Amino acid sequence: MTTTQIEKLTHFVNGEKVEGKSGRTGDVYNPSLGVKIAEVPLASTEEVNEAVALAKKGYETWSKISVGKRMDVLRKFRTLLDENTEELALIIGKENGKTIDDAKGEISRALESVDLALSAPHLLKGEHSVNVGGEINAYSVHRPLGVVTCIAPFNFPIMVPVAMSTMAVAVGNAMILKPSEKVPFSALFLSELWAEAGAPAGVWNVVNGDKEAVDALLEHPDVKAVSFVGSTPVAEAIYEKGTKHHKRVQAFGGGKNNMVIMPDADLDAAVNSFVGAAFGAASQRCMAISNAVPVGEQTADAFVAKLTEKIKDLKIGAYDDETADFGALISAESKANVLKALEGAIEEGAVLAADGRNPQVADDKGFYLGATLLDHVTPDMNVYKQEVFGPVRNVVRVNTLEEAIDLINAHEFGNGVTIFTDSGSAARKFTENIEVGMVGVNVPIPIPVGYHNFGGWKRSTFGEGQMFGPDTVRFFTKRKTISERWLDTSYNENKSDFSFPSN
Ligand code: NAD
Repeated sequence: MTTTQIEKLTHFVNGEKVEGKSGRTGDVYNPSLGVKIAEVPLASTEEVNEAVALAKKGYETWSKISVGKRMDVLRKFRTLLDENTEELALIIGKENGKTIDDAKGEISRALESVDLALSAPHLLKGEHSVNVGGEINAYSVHRPLGVVTCIAPFNFPIMVPVAMSTMAVAVGNAMILKPSEKVPFSALFLSELWAEAGAPAGVWNVVNGDKEAVDALLEHPDVKAVSFVGSTPVAEAIYEKGTKHHKRVQAFGGGKNNMVIMPDADLDAAVNSFVGAAFGAASQRCMAISNAVPVGEQTADAFVAKLTEKIKDLKIGAYDDETADFGALISAESKANVLKALEGAIEEGAVLAADGRNPQVADDKGFYLGATLLDHVTPDMNVYKQEVFGPVRNVVRVNTLEEAIDLINAHEFGNGVTIFTDSGSAARKFTENIEVGMVGVNVPIPIPVGYHNFGGWKRSTFGEGQMFGPDTVRFFTKRKTISERWLDTSYNENKSDFSFPSN
């Protein structure tokens, strides 16, 4: 029998790996095999305080470096991220369970965010008014905040941390990333890339941990802004605590995303889109489609018939199985929660149209669950009300487009939604009236590209500002407005410089 080597992980602070001192650790699993592969240190308040002090020194250096020189580091970081895609995709797959193709997809999305951050010199340009009165010129600039933190979820070990943090660093802040303790390898790998790219010590830090580390960051007076992505209850608690401690906080939570299928929709396109958007990554995406909402009984019957046929062909497997459509859930606990939601729904009267409880997989110790479809789900059922982070998806039947809109608008979440239709007027009515932050028309997952803003409505987001797009600059900088008067005097520097001006 072979035994798995348990790796002892570290933090990354002030440009180097730092061993944990708290004596507390978390277990990291390979979900495809269901085995523990590493122990991650869980930082104490004292360790967080040390990291913040070192990051503050890093900030003092970094924020004074010209924006052009900061971009040199960022360009190198982008090249390294791109060059290391293959290795990084394997790391993501191993600790998260998603397939290599899916992991590469998230890396390409992360690169988009770095591309946007490379436009920081443009996005940081302020406003200027000449002679607002008495030879006074007025101008406003964006200044970095100082030490800032990003607290990330497990489901996108690279895309979300990169999207949250890169612009923050580009505009001159020092970053403390607190990754999910379930996927620390990817964040530590990112640290190596930042160091190799030339980020000065203290500018990019990873502090591993759980609630204790998060609370220490939220309470520390030198942490100026908190960007959080995770589940809604934690997002709300972080928003409340962070703002109580006078921090700028944005906290992105969970979702329950719908696909409305109109009677005039291309049914094959809708079914194909639903399968990928609903079950991809074992449904562990905040933008995964949770509910199909077919309009009219005929549409519903035809949609469910085609969908259940398609589900039969789905292949579940390990992250490195190239034939797998999706992989394992993140943990045994997560699998148990999803099963509990499924069994509760059956008790509440939902009809099991496809049963994924016993998937055919090579390694049955992994945390696998197959694609499961519940038909005749109603809004009063728990499986409809709650976010289910695993491959149990619902069909909620409605009679009209208006009913679909009212149903979706009444839900507490408002992350993403999409409609499949051939009718421009139906699409227009839908996009106008739907109370959701990210809306699609005939697209499977309406996740915006990296240079547009990302964020849900209602209890999917707490605080101001969105992530990914230009809003990131506004969130991670503060404005200063200067009114300046220089009376007209002659200027003579008394020296000549013949070299080409450079930053
Ligand atoms: P989670 O809320 O359990 O954890 C997120 C982060 O918060 C982790 O770093 C974790 O260590 C920390 N954390 C957990 N409990 C905490 C507590 N009590 N106090 C302080 N910190 C705590 O979320 P998860 O399971 O890692 O991720 C899945 C969730 O994230 C889903 O709900 C999903 O919808 C959501 N998500 C949202 C978005 C979005 O953009 N809206 C994107 C990705 C994931």
